[in-house]
Amino acid sequence: MKIRVVLVEPEGAVNVGFVARACVNFGVDELVLVNPRADLEEALTYSAKAKDFLNKAIIMNDYDEAIKGFDLVVATSSKGYSRGNHIRQAIDLRTFVENIVGRVNSVAIIFGRESSGLKRSELDKADVLVTIPANPGYPVLNLNQAVAIVLYELWLVLKRTSQNLPPRASRDILDKIIDIINHIAVKTGIQEHKRVRLERTIRSILFRSSPSLFEAKMLEYFLRKVYRSIEEKH
Ligand code: SAH
Repeated sequence: MKIRVVLVEPEGAVNVGFVARACVNFGVDELVLVNPRADLEEALTYSAKAKDFLNKAIIMNDYDEAIKGFDLVVATSSKGYSRGNHIRQAIDLRTFVENIVGRVNSVAIIFGRESSGLKRSELDKADVLVTIPANPGYPVLNLNQAVAIVLYELWLVLKRTSQNLPPRASRDILDKIIDIINHIAVKTGIQEHKRVRLERTIRSILFRSSPSLFEAKMLEYFLRKVYRSIEEKH
């Protein structure tokens, strides 16, 4: 899925730099800046290893042009609801990402000005309004944090297998751990009917928590030590 991030009249250089960085972190294809007010030279200093990406950002002065040709155009706002207002009937971010991924080939996600957000006329041109649920007393996030959260949620759904995650423990090693615990339970004199419940409980904790291979090996190592030391004492 092609992802374009659109910033409408961004005002802060820090924000633009951090947004560019988040775009690279989460695999965004294009960044479009509509009438940027921020100093883009300064923004480069905040973009870290996303300098090339920011240098390639598309600068436009026409909002309509920035959202043209996408399967889905998404506006974002902290004001997700206003009674009787057809424009402010947002869906929450997670519902949105779960629903769109796999459904469209391209999406443009629009973020508003730091000072005043998106205008009614701009919201009106989006297909859907998305809001990040937050404290109702103060739901307005900083621009670059809002972008990062949206992109992160999209990333999770699009790339369920991130290269940055450790390998999970296999069923084999989890079964081995349960086996050792059973042996320990026998040695410590726990009665059979209690051992059955213990095994069931440990099994459900282990499988539900989905430990990494490293964590499981560590646990296995420790339990083997415990087992051996009990065995020596008997
Ligand atoms: N004073 C402005 C603040 C805008 S914050 C206003 O009241 O609208 C800048 C941009 O960050 C917003 O236009 C929106 O794109 C994004 N944003 C901030 N908080 C958000 C939230 N809770 N959900 C979705 N987008 C948010």
